[in-house]
Amino acid sequence: MTDYVILAGSVIDGSGVEPLRNAAIRIKDGFIDSVCGQDQLGDVDSEVIDLGDRTVIPGLWDAHVHLALKHPFPEYRTDVEPVPHQTMRCYSQALRALNAGFTSLRIVGEAKQIDLQLKKAINGGLVDGPNIFGAGEAIIPTGGHGYNSLSCVETDGVDGFARMARVQLRAGADLVKMCISGGLGSPHESVSDSQATVEEMRAATDMAHKAGKHVTVHASAPGPIQEAILAGVDCVEHAYELDDDTITAMIRNNTYLCPTLLVTNCGDYLQRHGAPPWQLEKQAQASKTHFAGFKCAVEAGIPILAGTDLLPTDRVDGTWAGLREIELLVEGGMTPMGALQAATSVPAQLLGVSDRLGTLTPGKMADLVVLAKDPLDDIRAIRDIQMVIKSGKVIRRDQ
Ligand SMILES: [Zn+2]
Repeated sequence: MTDYVILAGSVIDGSGVEPLRNAAIRIKDGFIDSVCGQDQLGDVDSEVIDLGDRTVIPGLWDAHVHLALKHPFPEYRTDVEPVPHQTMRCYSQALRALNAGFTSLRIVGEAKQIDLQLKKAINGGLVDGPNIFGAGEAIIPTGGHGYNSLSCVETDGVDGFARMARVQLRAGADLVKMCISGGLGSPHESVSDSQATVEEMRAATDMAHKAGKHVTVHASAPGPIQEAILAGVDCVEHAYELDDDTITAMIRNNTYLCPTLLVTNCGDYLQRHGAPPWQLEKQAQASKTHFAGFKCAVEAGIPILAGTDLLPTDRVDGTWAGLREIELLVEGGMTPMGALQAATSVPAQLLGVSDRLGTLTPGKMADLVVLAKDPLDDIRAIRDIQMVIKSGKVIRRDQ
């Protein structure tokens, strides 16, 4: 089935415009050919999928993923898992994400650049999977955040950061990721610690920008975030603490934010996964400021991406992590429409792929998710996904 027409009660196209009611989407060769009212459809000589009053939205993104993630975090860097096994684990997580409705993943640090190889295998038609946009390994200073994780690579100095950015770009990275402040996943650092110099960050950022790629940083608190903005980065991950000056700087530089609200709002997830007491304590501390800072960022108009920093299909509060994050964006002050954009068109825009992904408009890849109910009435409607389509191919159809 390559050419068909979908009839739906409502289409939310991901661009932020009002939904189209009683809509028809014509799909040809894996792309969206047209979107119009059913009364304007004219003759149909291809198959019709009549979804009744259901709602169609663009395929979802999880914009902060590490496919090989395992909890609890190791205390020391250990490299005992054979690469083929790690690769299969990543692949199975990517497939699970696709089945759950996440047709695109932004991978922000993956061991052994497995994300980039997986992307090549999927894009080359070797295996099915979601659209993958990867950073390869995250670049960190020696002993910096993530030193205990195989998804990070240590280096130092301006030359070291520039070279390590080149190493990721050579392997096919779609973005460059650095960890430049302390975080919640290791005991030896505080979230407000600045770990890289502005010059180091600028060196890697320049290399990425010369290659037309964006740069994002793991950054937890105002000091390191402002230094990263000085270095020219395009996006900030986490921001457990934010203040007015930092928000102003982000607005001035059009810096995106991927808040990963789940990290401090994942219920008993960490206990269930054996997190040590120091990590629970750090999470509890960060949760006191994380939501408040995010609310201010939303009010200021900072562009937001929906990303989990868990596996997209981990179970949290009775649903998939990736869906729970979208709900949390609304609980933190976004409109349901804004939260849907954060999970569709905004990440596509940051990655420079809006010409083919992120919205349901003619010429885009036919990546679609079908919901039983309208998420603009209640964002929890995203929990009830009934059908997933990727590049026009039906991946899952529940009813
Ligand atoms: Zn992360």
